[in-house]
Amino acid sequence: MAKYLIDLVMPVGILLALSSATKAQSSDSEGPIVRPELIRKVTESVYIIPDNFVRLVPNIGIVVGSTAILVVDTGLGIENGARVYEAVKELRQDKKMYTTITHYHPEHSLGVEGLGNDVVFIASEKQHQEMKAGDRIKNQFSRQSAANHELINNAPYPIPDILYDHNYKLDLGDLTVQLTSVGPLHTEGDSIIFINEEHVLFSGDIIMGGVIPSIDEQHATFGPWKTAIERIAKMSPQVIIGSHGDIGDQKLVDTWDRLISEISGALLEYHASGFSKSQATKELTSVLSQKFPTWRNDRRRMSAAVDTVYR
Ligand SMILES: [Zn+2]
Repeated sequence: MAKYLIDLVMPVGILLALSSATKAQSSDSEGPIVRPELIRKVTESVYIIPDNFVRLVPNIGIVVGSTAILVVDTGLGIENGARVYEAVKELRQDKKMYTTITHYHPEHSLGVEGLGNDVVFIASEKQHQEMKAGDRIKNQFSRQSAANHELINNAPYPIPDILYDHNYKLDLGDLTVQLTSVGPLHTEGDSIIFINEEHVLFSGDIIMGGVIPSIDEQHATFGPWKTAIERIAKMSPQVIIGSHGDIGDQKLVDTWDRLISEISGALLEYHASGFSKSQATKELTSVLSQKFPTWRNDRRRMSAAVDTVYR
């Protein structure tokens, strides 16, 4: 882990937990399986099952209030949702259980059905629309491997019990959770989830520790991404849990502000200099790999960024 990243993470207990997770040898060979045994406490009432750096596994959040519990993102398919359910049983006791998603992509939404019959699923109107039209990405994931196919093929997109437009306030007893729709950025229906009393933000793909942004090249632009980051800064989150990657603290907000400026600034320059899309993609990849050498990146992210600015 580069010094740079260590600098971004939480002090004390969280840092210890984080650095061990970061160093853990993870591999994609087992497929996108949620590992409930990795569950750890982040603050007094918030737990995560970390993604363990496995592709198509999200960081799964568990928020335990005095009267109800909330699961944020659910894993790829019913089997993974059921693993999450097993992991939260003890924390839940006889409390009411809610679940919500940071965005509709299959590894976030398709585990909802595994969380039992009495879970209340909350989603934004935009997420609901995207799930209804979500077969393309589901089939795409399913074709990528036999393991994906196995996990996805019997898992329908879940139907929300509670729909919200822009904001929703969820009462967990002693905790208030604020759900805010901020897309289109990574998807049209990105939402962030803030736990007021503990200053914890589930930031979806809008801010992630150690992962380069992936923009929805058809619907989003980088300007609103900056606006969303400003909005997040005003919330003053102390712990930031992206839907993939490392946990961060408030410094991660500034890092992402710079990162988004860096990407959009560079691309505007390339465009003005007459670079082709493939030249721009190559150049941006090399700039980011120098500035963020340990951050996860791939060609798809880079060409989506290029397409967005060149559009
Ligand atoms: Zn996603």
